[in-house]
Amino acid sequence: MRIVTVVGNRPQFIKAAAVSGKLREHHDEVLVHTGQHHDDALSRVFFEELGLPRPERELEIAGGSNVSQTARMLGALEPIVAVTDPAAVLVFGDTNSTLAGALVAAQMRRAVIHVEAGMRSFDRTMPEELNRVLVDHIAELLLCPSETAAANLAAEGLGGVGTTVEVVGDVMVDVALQWQPHVAANGAALGALQLQAGDFLLLTAHRAGNVDPPERLRALVALVAALGAHGAFGPVVFPVHPRTRERLHAAGLWEELDATPGVRLIEPLPYAAFSALVYQARAVLTDSGGVQKEAYLAGVPCLTLRDSTEWVETVLNGWNTLVDLDGEAVMTALALKRPNERPALYGDGHAAERCVHAIDALAATLAGPGVL
Ligand code: UDP
Repeated sequence: MRIVTVVGNRPQFIKAAAVSGKLREHHDEVLVHTGQHHDDALSRVFFEELGLPRPERELEIAGGSNVSQTARMLGALEPIVAVTDPAAVLVFGDTNSTLAGALVAAQMRRAVIHVEAGMRSFDRTMPEELNRVLVDHIAELLLCPSETAAANLAAEGLGGVGTTVEVVGDVMVDVALQWQPHVAANGAALGALQLQAGDFLLLTAHRAGNVDPPERLRALVALVAALGAHGAFGPVVFPVHPRTRERLHAAGLWEELDATPGVRLIEPLPYAAFSALVYQARAVLTDSGGVQKEAYLAGVPCLTLRDSTEWVETVLNGWNTLVDLDGEAVMTALALKRPNERPALYGDGHAAERCVHAIDALAATLAGPGVL
């Protein structure tokens, strides 16, 4: 069947890289890039490095408030769905691109396929949480990375007639496992930054809740500066997301942080270089969903710079600690011994195949426009 896939930001390019090739073996995919992440470091390098097909359409919609960005995406996606006439629209995760793709599909009576369905932080102040909940409630095919995600959907009454919920595993894990042999002990990325394996902290932060409110941004800067100056854990390597870079400059905090001994502010890295750093860090500090999982897969302790997480299993298994922006909690977590056990979570590296099988089954139930 014909499927319009909507992607827009860095983790979605990684997820689409897992699914797109396999999907195209069975179906006719039209890849649409909304432009939510448009700069080279967050977009083009991932298409090239991960072998993602060139998008058939690029909407170049970035910036503005969540409301205006979503509205512009809705307006741009409607004619694309009208012209390409797909039977289904495929969306990943929880961004404005996810919501816009799903809503256009539902209003134009096309099936919605949601990959990474059922994730919940139960924190409705997060724009991502709102997007996830709304998309899950209008999707026909809900493909979950974990049993917890499927249980979250069941608790919301989803999975009834006309909808299918399936636990397929996490498509990001497919990509991480493919790259593992090439990056786990690769010294090139560390060498380029003059880092020693096991003797640095890797940090990322870009969630709105951490970088938009000025007092949270200041607390983040104070935390990073204190860790860098402390020195006992090696330097803090911080590939700075463009949103965070902009906020730091606007608040006049960039120079101060950049000048702090032990703090290394760098550009966002391509996937392989970043993964090599994850594997070889002493610990990872992050507010990213994807990076929490990748630290777990790498067997590297993660400190999550939030007070909630969707990836609860990583916390339950003792590899991830919710420290928010609390310096004392960070020090305590950094002193913890690594757990002995690290059971496989979120699948076996074949989630994308299961997604495509589920999509094959959906195609068999659909008739009408876009069903080839
Ligand atoms: N990532 C990357 N380079 C970086 C930082 C992150 O390749 O400098 C990758 C990381 O390996 C993970 C993904 O980007 O696969 C996570 O994206 P992000 O943190 O932007 O989004 P989230 O997962 O929080 O939605």
